[in-house]
Amino acid sequence: MTQTAFTPRVFSGIKPSGGLTLGNYLGAIKRFVGIQGQMETIYCVVDMHAITVWQDPKELANMTREVAAGYLAAGLDPSQSILFNQSQVAAHAELGWIFNCVARVGWMNRMTQFKDKAGSNAEKVSLGLYAYPALMAADILLYHATHVPVGEDQKQHVELTRDIAAKFNHDFKTDFFPLTEPVIDGPATRIMNLRDGTKKMSKSGESDMERINMTDDADKIAKKFKKAKTDPEPLPETAEGLAGRPEARNLVEIYAALNDMTPEAVITEYAGAQWGKFKPALADLAVAKLAPISDEMARFMADPAEIDRILGEGAEKARAIANPILRDTYDVVGLLRS
Ligand code: ATP
Ligand code: MG
Repeated sequence: MTQTAFTPRVFSGIKPSGGLTLGNYLGAIKRFVGIQGQMETIYCVVDMHAITVWQDPKELANMTREVAAGYLAAGLDPSQSILFNQSQVAAHAELGWIFNCVARVGWMNRMTQFKDKAGSNAEKVSLGLYAYPALMAADILLYHATHVPVGEDQKQHVELTRDIAAKFNHDFKTDFFPLTEPVIDGPATRIMNLRDGTKKMSKSGESDMERINMTDDADKIAKKFKKAKTDPEPLPETAEGLAGRPEARNLVEIYAALNDMTPEAVITEYAGAQWGKFKPALADLAVAKLAPISDEMARFMADPAEIDRILGEGAEKARAIANPILRDTYDVVGLLRS
């Protein structure tokens, strides 16, 4: 089967498992908005993924709105992209179940994110956290999405999505699902924790000081960059000099991504600079880029009914694509429909 038979279509999602971070913005939202208009784009607030770990029911709907507000504030246009929350399209869960029956336990055991998130507590975490990559495959394949822009941390899950599509196609002797491409490009595919350059910045991370939140004010942003861990050396003279210096590399990559330049160009500008010079420049840049977005987010959050309306309309458009694909999947599998 030639995979060119599938119309180019983008799908990606963000969990409402906490406030949006600079990692989510640079690694996901900014890139999602960048592709908008070039092909069909479908973006989701994946609330069913969020509940794989405990979420306070009183907070969940608001977190869902906040992620939606982040997308909208960063430039997602609901007339150009479909924007909705996952739980409003039941077909995600239904296809997710079928993929639970396609994916192999051995494949799940290789997922590094599960190992990271479960840690030494693997017996006590939810079954949903373990099975989550099969639901993620359903999110993507329910739309026959051909491209999934994600951060580096999600590469393994998109590869698993391809494995699930290939096994489904093989087992049922069909060419029904595309082999989706992960799209991991630009300087910010893995923004690191500000206190530990070997760990990813995450919205569900333990300490607020390890991440920049989209809603942080100028003082907080300046303070967090000032306290960010670095080594004692100044910035190198060339980009090669960042090798083996994860914290330095991270701050340079954040600067590059915020300012739409390459890390090499940042080093050229700041060759040999001390942290006392670079960190305040980075904080100023981050404030200049994030403040307009966080102001806009606050404006959206002041009108939750409007966000709910946008998500509802998006869900309707999503169902119009998803439901026929789910129905065809049921037919392939042989599930009876009266
Ligand atoms: P959680 O800690 O709950 O897993 P998260 O911050 O990892 O939250 P997700 O909702 O899991 O966010 O991921 C949403 C998108 O953001 C994904 O495409 C993911 O690859 C991207 N992303 C998350 N963290 C980073 C990061 N530090 N750098 C670049 N991209 C990131
Ligand atoms: Mg994550």
